[in-house]
Amino acid sequence: AKEAGRNTHRFFDERMNADAIEHLSLRNDLRRALERGEFVVYYQPQLDMASGQVAGAEALVRWRHPERGLVPPGSFISIAEDSGLIVPLGEWVLHQACHDAAGWNAAGHQVGVAVNLSALQFKRGNLEDSVRAALHQSGLGAHRLELELTESILIKDTENVLAKVRRLHAIGVELSIDDFGTGYSSLSYLQRFQVDKLKIDQSFVRALTREQDSAAIVTAVIQMARSLNLRTIAEGVEDEETLAVLRSQGCDQVQGFLHARPMPVEDFREYLARRDAT
Ligand code: C2E
Ligand code: CA
Ligand code: CA
Ligand code: CA
Repeated sequence: AKEAGRNTHRFFDERMNADAIEHLSLRNDLRRALERGEFVVYYQPQLDMASGQVAGAEALVRWRHPERGLVPPGSFISIAEDSGLIVPLGEWVLHQACHDAAGWNAAGHQVGVAVNLSALQFKRGNLEDSVRAALHQSGLGAHRLELELTESILIKDTENVLAKVRRLHAIGVELSIDDFGTGYSSLSYLQRFQVDKLKIDQSFVRALTREQDSAAIVTAVIQMARSLNLRTIAEGVEDEETLAVLRSQGCDQVQGFLHARPMPVEDFREYLARRDAT
């Protein structure tokens, strides 16, 4: 029995080791990847419910790994956060997204861009200066940039965070709360931070037509947002039935595979041109 226990132990250690090595190798690769320019930003359209027009696009990073192929952010964002690399990576995404959005605006498409911010970017580094520099260097108007914050950033309701949010707002960018409903969702911070928009988390959106509880949450969020004068966007919209329910409830914008998957910037510009032509 003792022997078997040791074997199990060793087996477990080896597996842990393999995971740790995988983690380490990704971590080393990540640092080099930024220097080698292996990251790429994809864009997913956000549609205005009332007009059907493209209101914006969310910038979603991918890693073009020389051996692994196109790696989704779910496989490396948390590693980048642990190692602190998310700060320079996030800064790169911010600059790239502003540059790309300035390009499609110059081509006549009045469409904004939404960039995800990690909590670490918010804590470390000078976010306001980065945002100002990205806008200045790209020539993108501040009102065309939206920053997606998570509740984990805002829940640390310190004067420091509050002051930072206010300074960002003063630049003229839009602020939204991502994955709304999954965190703490304290109503008081919504007022305190003066955000512009709530992104209803896709877990509720996808269960909307199947589960009563999810439907109730979505209804409540849209009604609350309205009374606080906030806009709403539902993400993860995959079918017409869900779209119809969201429309009847007065949701302002939608984003999801029903309309389009995230795509490289060249494809997104073609998508905009095609829609303008019809
Ligand atoms: P998120 O910010 O919640 O982004 C939405 C995710 O949902 C994206 O996954 C998008 O491709 C996916 N999605 C959109 N519509 C649908 C749909 O109809 N059905 C389904 N099943 N999925 C849909 P993606 O691109 O894999 O990104 C995953 C997460 O990685 C993001 O979740 C975000 O938290 C993080 N991320 C991506 N880019 C960045 C970045 O530049 N910085 C930071 N800090 N995080 C990022
Ligand atoms: Ca997001
Ligand atoms: Ca505003
Ligand atoms: Ca989200």
